[in-house]
Amino acid sequence: MNLDEARTRTEALRRQIEQHNHAYYVLDQPAVSDSTYDALMRELQDLEAEFLELVTPESPTQRVGAAPSDAFVPHTHRVAMLSLANAFSPDELREWDARLKRLLGLDADQPLQYVAELKIDGLAVSLTYREGRLAVGATRGDGSVGEDVTPNLKTVRGMPLRLRDGAPAAEAEVRGEVFLTHSEFQRINQEREEQGEATYANPRNSAAGSLRQLDSGKTAHRRLQYFAYGVGALPGTPPASQWELLETLREWGFRTNPNSRVCAGIDAVLDVVREWETQRHTLDYDTDGIVVKVNSRALQDELGQVSRSPRWAIAFKYPAEQARTVVREIRVQVGRTGALTPVAIMDPVEVGGVVVTRATLHNEDEIRRKDLRVGDTVVIQRAGEVIPEVVEVVTDVRNGEAQEWTFPAACPVCGAAVERAEGEAVARCVGLACPAQLAARLRHWGSRDAMDVEGLGPAQIEQLLARQYVRDPADLYTLTTDQLLTLERMAEKSAQNLLDAIAATRSRHPARVLFGLGIRHVGVSVARVLIQSLGNLDRLAEAELDALSAVQGVGPQIADSLHRFFRQPENQEVLRKLREAGVLAEGPAEPEARSTVLAGKNFVFTGTLTRMARSDAEALVRELGGAASSSVTRSTTHVVAGDKAGSKRDKAEKLGIPIMTEDEFLAWVEKEQSVV
Ligand code: NAD
Repeated sequence: MNLDEARTRTEALRRQIEQHNHAYYVLDQPAVSDSTYDALMRELQDLEAEFLELVTPESPTQRVGAAPSDAFVPHTHRVAMLSLANAFSPDELREWDARLKRLLGLDADQPLQYVAELKIDGLAVSLTYREGRLAVGATRGDGSVGEDVTPNLKTVRGMPLRLRDGAPAAEAEVRGEVFLTHSEFQRINQEREEQGEATYANPRNSAAGSLRQLDSGKTAHRRLQYFAYGVGALPGTPPASQWELLETLREWGFRTNPNSRVCAGIDAVLDVVREWETQRHTLDYDTDGIVVKVNSRALQDELGQVSRSPRWAIAFKYPAEQARTVVREIRVQVGRTGALTPVAIMDPVEVGGVVVTRATLHNEDEIRRKDLRVGDTVVIQRAGEVIPEVVEVVTDVRNGEAQEWTFPAACPVCGAAVERAEGEAVARCVGLACPAQLAARLRHWGSRDAMDVEGLGPAQIEQLLARQYVRDPADLYTLTTDQLLTLERMAEKSAQNLLDAIAATRSRHPARVLFGLGIRHVGVSVARVLIQSLGNLDRLAEAELDALSAVQGVGPQIADSLHRFFRQPENQEVLRKLREAGVLAEGPAEPEARSTVLAGKNFVFTGTLTRMARSDAEALVRELGGAASSSVTRSTTHVVAGDKAGSKRDKAEKLGIPIMTEDEFLAWVEKEQSVV
């Protein structure tokens, strides 16, 4: 490669790495695996070593992490938080050992003492203690300036808020790793999926995302853990070795990793590296290597540091484990939010200590990009707690039998249409009654900003689905006491309470109903704007695309999503059922209920009213939290009959629904209001 070629390549690599850094450090959503990233970084380092004139201070090889985001107050570390140089093979570790000895003027055969520690795959934080109390906790950021996330860090387990006896009174910086266990990572992702949020790629990104929450209540809800392994600024004489430092940290009340070892020389370090290569898979947290540190503090000081890492420490990184197998089938899974994910079903193969039979294929584009066919031999990869993925197709061994595969146009679970919004990689099922999404849809329907059904929790929903009492949100309104009594821990009274709570939601404002339908991109405020400008749900359901996108604040993406949703015959059927159940009462949209005195009541006005117009009477009912419809159904709770009331009155009589005059109605409303 000549200088010009090298320059072009370095520039391209830097651009790619910068992008990956942003995705990883700022967005907590990496676009590539760590091993792919490390390979890019390695290539750049090698090129810069060969063409020294290409090294610039801005190169990612010279810098640590990424600048802190604006969302947090910056915190300047007193002693910079460095990264570590990497070794990817035992030979590289031996070379490093030999280099240190040369620098220290030691004989090649004289062993250097090291401490080998597990490299926890989390994120580094620095804790500043003043007078023995936690004053500031910050992320590493770009090494010199991090983000002050103190309230969030205070929720982390294994990190003392106050140091135990013997701790320095003056300011001390303690460094360590915040991480998540596998089980907690899975719990968080499940929760996010249910709420329709993007899931985290791995525990490390999940921990980083949790620590950088703006609401520390949310961080507390995620059980982050911590291991201390070092210090920054420290008053007085520092411990004489890394090993003593770890002991001191424990005395101060920190949790340190129990698997650290003192190694007499590099051979002993290599034994540890080998031992943990498989052993690490038994731990409940991700480790991606072994950090090797010169034990003696005096030698550490003598060795010093280079631009982004100390000379006296190195991270040995385990390669991502790969294996070859054959893809027998491609299945499409429908997630709780309707996302369709193609999955490869493969001949069982061991990778990273686990037998694997499935690997994610991410999406349609990925399958096309890799040109994967059913029957192909593939290389799969698994790193830490990441779902195995297909890295590449081994086309050399492809025979004529491999079959091309096409992405389904209909949902494999319910048959509804599959939509793929422009610019998005993920395809989704739009079926409102899709069984794969039902639990999540019902939870959303009952959630606080939607219909707010008290007593309808995940446990109840799960049982209602298992017993097939409920197939869509409208079925909630036909549940009976007898059915509810078959649910676990459901007594007469709680069953009645739940029925009442469900009945009360008939009068919810149409904007809440719209939000409750869980249409993609339609959040609380968009739902409100839509109802305000289109009047009611019926008009919205019938609106054409241009009418929808003409609404202020509704972009083409939302309009498209709404249009598609309401055109689905399956969804129209559910809406019809909801209307029949008394939800989605007709009439012009009113301001959201200011009071709830009429909550759960569903009125029908018939005949000629004398003291107010019928529309005003209906508006009054809605304002007081009730519902008003134009036809009498079993869900009608009251009929107000004016002069010349006809068939509606007869029907009410037949159904045994109380009938009142206009005067009675007004007096009753007044009385109800004064009770509150
Ligand atoms: P690093 O992960 O190679 O090593 C340094 C870090 O190790 C420290 O900051 C600390 O957080 C951690 N560590 C864990 N246990 C430790 C111990 N016992 N003692 C000391 N440190 C310990 O370097 P880095 O600068 O933190 O991150 C770079 C790495 O992040 C890359 O190698 C890559 O794997 C990953 N990355 C991935 C992407 C991506 O897009 N996938 C992007 C950027 C970075």
